[in-house]
Order: sequence, then C-alpha cells, then structure tokens
Amino acid sequence: MPLYDYRCETCGEPFEIRLGFNDPAPVCPHCGNATVQRLITTVPAVAKGVLANAGDSRKSSKEQLQDKWAEETPKLRKKLVDKLGEDFVRKNAPTLGGSE
Ligand SMILES: [Zn+2]
Repeated sequence: MPLYDYRCETCGEPFEIRLGFNDPAPVCPHCGNATVQRLITTVPAVAKGVLANAGDSRKSSKEQLQDKWAEETPKLRKKLVDKLGEDFVRKNAPTLGGSE
C-alpha cells in the first residue's frame, strides 16, 4: 500500500499513513480529528525531471519559433513583393514590415 503524507488542520501535526483504495479517510493520530489535508510532497524525482525538461523545451521551442519567424519574414515579404508588387504587400500585409 502506498504511503501518504497528511497534515492535521486542527493541530497542525504532519503524519504519514498507509492507505488502500477501500480504506476510510484517515484521522489525525495526535488529536483524532478527521479534518486532515493530503500533502503532495512525494513527487518522484523522475517526474520532477520530466516536468522541468518539458518546461525548458517549451521555452526553447518558442524562442526558436521567434528566431525562425524573424528569419523568414523578410524572405516571405520579398517573395510577395516580387509576385504581387510593393503596393499590394504594403496594403495587404503590413505585419510583414519593410521599408516605410
Ligand atoms: Zn491533529
């Protein structure tokens, strides 16, 4: 059975208890009160690592996307200008920037 961390909301004492799925909610071993709070402190180190890596990769992929966009925008604009003309691009795609 897994070991859970709880803290009593009445006396504030932390305690650990083994609970199965069919066991009733625990009571505080110090004061017997049933108003106990489950503490989510026992996250495995592996899970923490995965979460940290996921955060990093999200950040870096966003930065990569911004770099890519900054790199591609002038090329895209030039392509449109070649095809459709400077005036058209300035009127219809002002977000692409370019010379004023
Ligand atoms: Zn208590």
